[in-house]
Amino acid sequence: MTAAYLERLNPEQRRAVEHGLGEADRFPGPLLVIAGAGSGKTNTIAHRVAHLLVNGADPERILLMTFSRRAASDLTRRAEAIGRQAMGERAGILAAGLPWAGTFHSIGVRLLRDYAGQIGLMPDFSIHDREDSADLMNLTRDDLGYSRMERRFPTKATCLEIYSRVVNSGAALADVLKEAFPWCASWEGELRALFAAYVEAKQAQGVLDFDDLLLYWARMQADPDLAAEIGGRFDHVLVDEYQDTNRLQASILLTMKPDGRGLTVVGDDAQSIYAFRAATVRNILDFPAAFDPPAETITLDRNYRSTRPILDAANAVIGLAKERFTKNLWTDRAGTQRPELVTVRDDVEQARFIATQVLENREAGATLRQQAVLFRTASHSAVLEVELTRRRIPFVKFGGLKFLDSAHVKDVLALLRFVQNPRDLVAGFRVMLLVPGVGPATARRALAAMSMAAEPIGALAAFPTPPRIGGEWQGFVALLVALRGRGTAWPAELDILRQWYEPILDRQHDDASTRLADLLQLQGIAAGYPSRERFLTELTLDPPAATSDESGVPSLDNDYLILSTIHSAKGREWRSVFVLNAVDGCMPSDLGTGTTADIEEERRLLYVAMTRARDSLHLILPQRFYTHAQRAKGDRHVYASRTRFIPREILDHFDYVSWPGSRHAVPTAQPAAAPRIDIAAQMRGMWR
Ligand code: ATP
Ligand code: MG
Repeated sequence: MTAAYLERLNPEQRRAVEHGLGEADRFPGPLLVIAGAGSGKTNTIAHRVAHLLVNGADPERILLMTFSRRAASDLTRRAEAIGRQAMGERAGILAAGLPWAGTFHSIGVRLLRDYAGQIGLMPDFSIHDREDSADLMNLTRDDLGYSRMERRFPTKATCLEIYSRVVNSGAALADVLKEAFPWCASWEGELRALFAAYVEAKQAQGVLDFDDLLLYWARMQADPDLAAEIGGRFDHVLVDEYQDTNRLQASILLTMKPDGRGLTVVGDDAQSIYAFRAATVRNILDFPAAFDPPAETITLDRNYRSTRPILDAANAVIGLAKERFTKNLWTDRAGTQRPELVTVRDDVEQARFIATQVLENREAGATLRQQAVLFRTASHSAVLEVELTRRRIPFVKFGGLKFLDSAHVKDVLALLRFVQNPRDLVAGFRVMLLVPGVGPATARRALAAMSMAAEPIGALAAFPTPPRIGGEWQGFVALLVALRGRGTAWPAELDILRQWYEPILDRQHDDASTRLADLLQLQGIAAGYPSRERFLTELTLDPPAATSDESGVPSLDNDYLILSTIHSAKGREWRSVFVLNAVDGCMPSDLGTGTTADIEEERRLLYVAMTRARDSLHLILPQRFYTHAQRAKGDRHVYASRTRFIPREILDHFDYVSWPGSRHAVPTAQPAAAPRIDIAAQMRGMWR
């Protein structure tokens, strides 16, 4: 008898799920599933994991990696649900443990802590997010005197970008400078010295930045014994969204499983959208040939997500790409509604259109959560957010500004990090400045005293402070001692911390009560983690979104609209999707370098956005969209044209409408500078 869950799959999906499991004495050979959007790749991975579990695989010997914490936990949950359903009574077996699941970075942290002793790393190392890294880069730059040079030295952000590029691409500094940062090339010597000092500072302080997590992991596995040991911990390693991995991630995977046995990777080359972070689509294309015999490759070409008109339009967009992608997707989900290109006057009208349409959809039976608004850049949703708030349409925003970016939340996290690792200078500097009366000079001296001492907290207690701040200082030291004390349990220590921080917050901010509410929310999130270390790690690596993480916030159990950057919408789907600003200057953005590779990545980004839609898709074209370049020039009377990714020859896949239509009264509040329908722009657009 075949399990019911296998019956639900199509033959190719089923082949992927069952691949290699007949060979009783060996782990399955390497498998690549390369397939288009909505063809069930993620679903297939979930079924494969379930199938492994049902067939007796040890969950703790399964490693699942994907691009976000949420995607990882969704995948585990789906696999478990399928498995449970199939096993019925025997489901207890599944409770034996959970697969390892997470991002490459979070799995890297777990392994590095496990092997810290063997690779000369402090096991309680702390992790710096990009902002912390930039701060440390800045401190290092100051120490070397580069910030006081006659000619302006590259900014901390640029330095970090160069550093990260070198680390991730494995290219030489000189080449990276020549190719991507030619205006910094004359600083090569200084940059080299800066990066060396930066690396030393990180080591002395026991901190790793994001890049280090992969770099150290890869280095650790350069040792064949360690590679074999780590690879040997897992019978099955499965990776989703493989097209968005970088060179280091691929090498980690290949050194872990050199013969590819137990390895399954899944992805879509047409959806590769992270080249700007050194991801390379070569990883997925080169995967089969990395093994001997080569990996089995399965393609899926049936799309289960979108109606035919939507899929046809998306196929038409990606069909114009310079590269040729292998699949042509089909669907049997009939539909009559073609995607709409909606011309509106400006972003205010764009917001009104969406709010109106979203409510209409709700009347027609789609909940808010089944609808999403996608955009190129987080800041693009600002006007929409105002309109939604005005109309009391609840929403949750993903990507862009993070809840954790607010100063008070960062303060608390820095404190926790400092408690975890008192050698972390960036965290130490930030928290010392919180102590009333302590300025940067005092903080620096205190940190210097600490760095010399064998017992850092003891050194702080003994640090001579001016009498006027003595009391506050000792209060601060007492807090650290209390938080580090064995008697304090997680997450109760957050209460102690809050008692110390509240009066400071009160003194510093008029809106202390709102900020306090944020902290309580943070505490709620913290309660979901088993330890301070896990909490810090997960939050640093993959912070929850601004208005909330869907999983993290208890107050949002009702219906809400999803706002998301296209990057954060990867892998997801909604009944109705709205894409903001489908105009040139935004898609493609005029911020990139304008190379062909950049433009092609933007095309794939639009493809990713369009393929999120199940039943209805609207691309909005505000006629007045100020590109960054135009804004900078102060240009006010420019008209945006339809994105070049929808040229005239594929226009018949769309319906062209303008809003408000003639039935609606035009609001008169706006100055009449722009015509409602800019025929001139449309005419120009015809020839694109
Ligand atoms: P993306 O490229 O966007 O990540 P994907 O290939 O991972 O897409 P999934 O998200 O796994 O696709 O699946 C898309 C939709 O199709 C989901 O709603 C899923 O439940 C449905 N689906 C997948 N396979 C089948 C199937 N065999 N029968 C019915 N529905 C399916
Ligand atoms: Mg997927």
